Amino acid sequence: MKGFWKPILIICMVASLAFYQAYQWAAHYYMGRAQNEAKATLGLVVEAVDQAIGRFQPIPTLIASDPAFQQLLGKNGPDGNTPYLNEKLRQIALSIGASEVYLMGLTGQTIATSNYRDEDSFLGRNFSFRPYFSEAISGETSMFHALGTTSGERGFFFSAPVLDGVEIVGVVTVKLPADTIEREWHDLGRDIIMADENGIIFMSSRADFRLRSLAPLSPDVRQNIIATRQFPVNELAPLNVATDAIGQEAVQLKLALNGVPYAYLANSRPLSLAGWHGIVLTPVETVQQQVIRTLLLAGFAAVAAILAILVFWQRRTNALQLMQFERQQREMLEAKVQERTVDLNAANANLQQEVTERRATEDLLRKSQKELVQAGKLAALGQMSAAISHEINQPLGAIKSYAANASEFMARNQLDEARENVDIIGQMTDRITDISHHLRNFARQPGDKLRVIDVAEVIDETLGIVGPQLRSCHAEVRFDRPNAPILALGGKLRLQQVLVNMVTNALEAMSQDPKPLIELGIEEREAEVDIHMRDYGHGVADEILELVFDAFYTTKSSGSGMGLGMSISQNIINDFGGALKVANHPVRGAIFTVTLRKPGFAHPNEALT
Ligand code: ADP
Repeated sequence: MKGFWKPILIICMVASLAFYQAYQWAAHYYMGRAQNEAKATLGLVVEAVDQAIGRFQPIPTLIASDPAFQQLLGKNGPDGNTPYLNEKLRQIALSIGASEVYLMGLTGQTIATSNYRDEDSFLGRNFSFRPYFSEAISGETSMFHALGTTSGERGFFFSAPVLDGVEIVGVVTVKLPADTIEREWHDLGRDIIMADENGIIFMSSRADFRLRSLAPLSPDVRQNIIATRQFPVNELAPLNVATDAIGQEAVQLKLALNGVPYAYLANSRPLSLAGWHGIVLTPVETVQQQVIRTLLLAGFAAVAAILAILVFWQRRTNALQLMQFERQQREMLEAKVQERTVDLNAANANLQQEVTERRATEDLLRKSQKELVQAGKLAALGQMSAAISHEINQPLGAIKSYAANASEFMARNQLDEARENVDIIGQMTDRITDISHHLRNFARQPGDKLRVIDVAEVIDETLGIVGPQLRSCHAEVRFDRPNAPILALGGKLRLQQVLVNMVTNALEAMSQDPKPLIELGIEEREAEVDIHMRDYGHGVADEILELVFDAFYTTKSSGSGMGLGMSISQNIINDFGGALKVANHPVRGAIFTVTLRKPGFAHPNEALT
């Protein structure tokens, strides 16, 4: 806002200066123009008055040359022609625009007149007191201006002597009425004054100026006016005009009329009549009004222009501010984006590192898991070792006995019996080979890949592995074996490992049972295959159902259980894309269920090889 007032202040100052200068120019211009117009008007008016006077001047001489009038005024005196001559004068007056034309005899008495018909006709009136009579009777043509004593009308009186041969016999006078000249001034739009040699306003477009004096009259002048009865001298009140020169040909003229002050620009010019002046008055107010009107217009235009400039300036400022604001916003946004990008890059780098670490951890985990699985398997073997060694020792003992027997029979030359014993030895060896074959396979490092396996076959082989254990416990396994292969996805050795764990746990749960029984079944569903294993042991307490598959969870006394078997088993089955679950049989014992996927229903992320 601060920045807004400064230009306004400057603009106001400039505007004031401009206004002052404009006023000067306008006043000068309109004053000049008014004067030019006034001068032109004055020229026309003065010219017209001069012309009118010039036109009337020779007329009395012309009339005087008429023999009829000479005769009338001559020695013979008036005859019967007088009415005719009166009429003739009337016709002349009408034709030249004179108010009166009249003839006076030597004494100044009117003998014939154009206004003979009027009530206040000049006939018989004596005008010897008028200078135009006295001058003409002495042989001069004369001109006189006065207020008519009879008519009360102002006019120019032109007169000439009437000669009868060489003798002056009378005077003819023609009166040019002042108002016929004044009438022409009405439409000029200015006030006109014609002042005589004494400063008396004889004619004016303004009636109230007429017969007023511009300045007080001197006593001589007053005396003369009284003597010639030119004007009623008491009515010639001065206008009390004050003038100031404002140019070479112009003055500023001030006067007060009936208490009202007037100010004019006055231009004056002399007439052909000696001492007379024509004056044109232009009201100063008119000029000032023109100046003010022009200035107002110019002012309005200037204000409009200033407002337009201000609006433009304001808009430009707003636009600049908006642009600046937008630029700042953009820069802020860019800075933010950059900041975020840096953060994001850092986060990305972190994430990348985390991913790398996670991969390494996963690799480690997989490796550990593998090792764990192997360890678990070896642990299972360890658990089974007593039963296995028993299983091997038994035939070995028998082999030893049968070998001794065979040797005895051969010594006795009982070769058939000896062969029988050797055959049995062979069978026993086969059995041991069988066991070791199973165990060797079981101990092998399993592969990672999923294959299509025959679930029934895997169960058969598992039962082969745990055979010694089962026998050492006198356990019975009831396997409802299907004839056809049951195919599922998994790893043979790893599934064997799971099943061995399950059998081992079942036997341990039934360790108190003299005749343990394990039931095995296979259930085929649309996409999956379930392997159920039920025992008749103590089952799993409800509160630990969730914990059975946790690593290192065991209910067995230290030394006999690590708590890893079921945890490893569940991991193995999960790796197959299947599930391992436990439940209690409503009557007795636990039921473990291994669920495997059938081929063709492979998990989308897994490759089948
Ligand atoms: P361990 O056999 O070393 O204890 P496991 O992970 O194999 O470890 O088993 C964990 C626990 O699950 C066992 O301690 C036992 O309490 C329970 N369990 C597993 N199998 C059975 C079963 N067939 N009957 C009852 N309890 C079982």
